Amino acid sequence: MGSALHNNLGHIIIDTDLLYDTPRILSGYLVSALFADVMDDTGGTLLSDVWVDATLRRAVPSQQIHLRGTTRTTAQFECALCLTPFQHEMVLELDRCFMVGDDPADDSSETQMTMDIVFLPNNRLELLPVIEEELVLGLPMMPRCHDDCAGLCPGCGSNLNRDPCSCSSDREEHSMARLRYLLQ
Ligand SMILES: [Zn+2]
Ligand SMILES: [Zn+2]
Repeated sequence: MGSALHNNLGHIIIDTDLLYDTPRILSGYLVSALFADVMDDTGGTLLSDVWVDATLRRAVPSQQIHLRGTTRTTAQFECALCLTPFQHEMVLELDRCFMVGDDPADDSSETQMTMDIVFLPNNRLELLPVIEEELVLGLPMMPRCHDDCAGLCPGCGSNLNRDPCSCSSDREEHSMARLRYLLQ
């Protein structure tokens, strides 16, 4: 088993039959490299491993398996407004349901998703794809370095959080001059 604090959960596959007797505590990490592929498409980069602190419980008599807990990691994103890279600690709530057996809606042997329940045809629950999916769903749609990021000036492109530029006052002067001209 090893120390709970240093459990590598990266390749863990849980035999759901073993959950009949006792809930399974999942406490440990998945190395960030395992998520390189999914993160590639998102514009984000993981700066730390992905830590999981959760419990798997099999409910009687419904036979649903619940994964509850949290997962956390630190990622780097590029601000959508000012394009500056920034770090963001992602803390995600885990609350997932699994059902042992085939998905009644589909007879393919792959693990299927129907609504919020994932079916497990082979009584095996693989942790990595679940955490991958949570991570992708938890990514910010429009990452921002700060809530009040001022963004880039559309005129000169300077980062308005750092370098106030003179574009807006120029624009005002231009329109005032034009107004004065029109009023003559
Ligand atoms: Zn920004
Ligand atoms: Zn400007």
